[in-house]
Amino acid sequence: MKDFSRSGFDTICIRGGHEDESNRAHLTPIYATSTYTFDSAEQSISVFKGDEKAYIYGRWGNPTIAEAEEKIAMLEAYKLNAKNGQPLQLKAILHSSGMAAVSTMLLSNIKSGQKIITHYSLYGGTHELIEKILPGMGIQATIVDFHDLNKVEDAIKADNNITMMYIETPANPTLQCVDIESLSSLAKSYGLTVCVDNTFATPYLQQPFKYDVDYVMHSTTKFLNGHGTAIGGVVIGRDLEHMNTGVTKMHRLLGGNSNAFDAFLLTNGIRTLGLRMERHCANAGRVATFLQGHRAIARVNYLGLSDHPDHAIAMRQMKNGGAMLSFELKGGFDAGVNFINKMRMCTNAVSLGTCDTLISHPASTTHVGVSRDQRLKFGITDGLIRMSVGLENLEDIINDMEQAISWKLF
Ligand SMILES: *Cc1c(COP(=O)(O)O)cnc(C)c1O
Repeated sequence: MKDFSRSGFDTICIRGGHEDESNRAHLTPIYATSTYTFDSAEQSISVFKGDEKAYIYGRWGNPTIAEAEEKIAMLEAYKLNAKNGQPLQLKAILHSSGMAAVSTMLLSNIKSGQKIITHYSLYGGTHELIEKILPGMGIQATIVDFHDLNKVEDAIKADNNITMMYIETPANPTLQCVDIESLSSLAKSYGLTVCVDNTFATPYLQQPFKYDVDYVMHSTTKFLNGHGTAIGGVVIGRDLEHMNTGVTKMHRLLGGNSNAFDAFLLTNGIRTLGLRMERHCANAGRVATFLQGHRAIARVNYLGLSDHPDHAIAMRQMKNGGAMLSFELKGGFDAGVNFINKMRMCTNAVSLGTCDTLISHPASTTHVGVSRDQRLKFGITDGLIRMSVGLENLEDIINDMEQAISWKLF
């Protein structure tokens, strides 16, 4: 492996994790094979004993997968040092989905009788896992407002069983941000394990390992892949010993492994992560300003705008306001539905982080089954439109927005 400890972010995106391949293929091929052969009985003994490093079975790993894992680990560790002053070493394990990654991370770090402390407005799947599946396994969660550190500390003090803090920032879909540095330092002072879902920010905008957290996870389905071509997830950890034993064991036995084809698509996507994020964020900032000045729009939620309640936190821990925004049409539910129907270019779909601008109306889609009162509590109002700003030319995005909004002003 080449030494990338002093390379730039884009260089790592492109070259990080790549190992020369025996047939001299320029790119790491899609290793479509479920198993690997041994030279001799003696060699298989030494591989199984761990004396010799070799691929054994596809569920355990694969060269195409290894490249994506190493690239992501290097990006999350970019320019960070470990306590001994040496470049931070991280290990990443790729999964079949973001949810598989969360499951492996949680189940390899928390046991029956222990508790998680977390906050509102997690990704829906994570929230459901914590709310509906884990309690049946004896794992409860305490949910508190992570903006209020005193409350967080009181909750941790009141319950010795809390052993893990789970943070998502910015959170999906509200874009709420919480302060990773102060939460992590509080959690660490009580000996908790800390995990951050960094999906919305990516390592380009935010590196939670800077604040001493133990794990970062991503749904690679979003910005890391960047083209909407594959579902995937990753767990990245700093305790290499536990990553190589407990977490690896859980990953292998739960069976949420990735595959060579998806890993190839992911590696190819990450090669342009820096470039894409730069344009995603620049476009999002300009779209936010355009929307803010529009008379049919009541409110724009964008972390880069100074009127966002979490603007200051976001600017402290993120490079800029990111690529996600939402806005509220004055015309309410009907205006939302009509806006979606009138769009000519932007894509009406859930998910985020693709080259193309994706727009959704949560009240009529993801939250259609949630009572109105409940969804208003989460900030999902009738006319709220969520937007993952893409890489198209800015004027085309704005023109499409303009003509779709102008259906009926209010
Ligand atoms: C999409 C998403 C997930 C779940 O990832 P999948 O790849 O869909 O399993 C988890 N966290 C966040 C923040 C997400 O956006």
